[in-house]
Amino acid sequence: MLRDQFPLLTQQVSGQPLIYLDNAATTQKPRQVIDTVAAYYRTTNANVHRASHHLSAEATLRFEQARETMARYLNAAHSREVIWTRGTTEAINLVANSWGVSNLSTGDEIVLSTLEHHANIVPWQMVAERTGAIIRVVPLLETGDLDMDAYRNVLNDRTKLVAVGHVSNTLGTVNPVAEITAAAKAVDATVLIDGAQALPHFQIDVQAIGCDFYVFSGHKMFAPTGIGVLWGKETLLDVMPPWQGGGEMIAQVSFSGTTYNQLPFKFEAGTPNISGVLGLSAAVSWLNQQDRHALDQHEHQLFQHALACCQNVPGFTRIGAPKHSASLISFQLDKHHQQDIGLQLDQMGIAVRTGHHCAMPLMQALGINGTTRASFAFYNTLAEVELFATALDQIARENDIQVAVPNNNEQAD
Ligand code: PMP
Repeated sequence: MLRDQFPLLTQQVSGQPLIYLDNAATTQKPRQVIDTVAAYYRTTNANVHRASHHLSAEATLRFEQARETMARYLNAAHSREVIWTRGTTEAINLVANSWGVSNLSTGDEIVLSTLEHHANIVPWQMVAERTGAIIRVVPLLETGDLDMDAYRNVLNDRTKLVAVGHVSNTLGTVNPVAEITAAAKAVDATVLIDGAQALPHFQIDVQAIGCDFYVFSGHKMFAPTGIGVLWGKETLLDVMPPWQGGGEMIAQVSFSGTTYNQLPFKFEAGTPNISGVLGLSAAVSWLNQQDRHALDQHEHQLFQHALACCQNVPGFTRIGAPKHSASLISFQLDKHHQQDIGLQLDQMGIAVRTGHHCAMPLMQALGINGTTRASFAFYNTLAEVELFATALDQIARENDIQVAVPNNNEQAD
């Protein structure tokens, strides 16, 4: 059974079998990924690209094969277009600091959407402060879909960048990224797509989307933490200045001046996360071995079943109802504070996420301070969905409502 390949899922939490519904925060890893990382440290560990010895050559070979695997998976034109980063956040910061700083100036416009995760807002605010660029925000329809008419209206000849998420981590909205890109291209804007929540659910073809940059994190697609990808068009990456300086990214260094390495190494300063890269490549190979259509159908079934079961829970309100949604549900439960819901579910062995989901501007637009979010992956079962809905029902019917412990900490998700 597919679920048996995820060892973590067999454990108990609070004396109950774990029901892991926090997949939008991070996914669990199949044995193939865990074993690849462990085997790397047991047999191959060495630094890449440098030494003349056997282990280093082996590590370098596998590291670069992983880049080829990723390039094929994304349908990139060349593996030079795949830059390893720490994750989505670092990839966006790289583009903001390199492409943004050298291409934006006073009065230029950066278009974001209300749905964005902080990772796709704050780096642009920082770059706007430095360059004098202006941020324009595309509003949402009541459903949580992007208002595409408003989007088209916001585009103009000052629009230099459109940076939007492929899938919202909070509402599940799947944005029409090819259409968004085509409209941006009509005004000659550069397009970055934050794919952090897309890769766990479906395969991406960067050339079919037509965007310039596509970024994502390994840990959300069944791979280790600390590794992610910036895919960019070679023509753009080639002329972009490096962001971080150090080893690996140079051709020649002297105190009178330094020349930079070629792609992709120009953007990979320092020793990379080698085991993470191999783990990510193992996750891609594992995904390639699955029947993606069947996984997709199962996720859809989990989502539909969860919606149907939760509708019967007293006081349950789903937040957003996008036309196309990934398998996640954000909701509120009448007078129950989301933090209480999260704690009570945890006592029943059920892991969900509560809070603002790193999308404070979205919370402000919705006029709420947070939600509870259950996010599903293909290894979840219909029985787990039912137990989750039953647990919610129990919480909803409890008269004795606990007071939430105030917690202003940012919850990474
Ligand atoms: N964008 C979206 C839509 C996300 O869900 C996340 C994950 N929290 C990020 C960006 C940032 O990803 P990471 O923390 O892995 O860099």
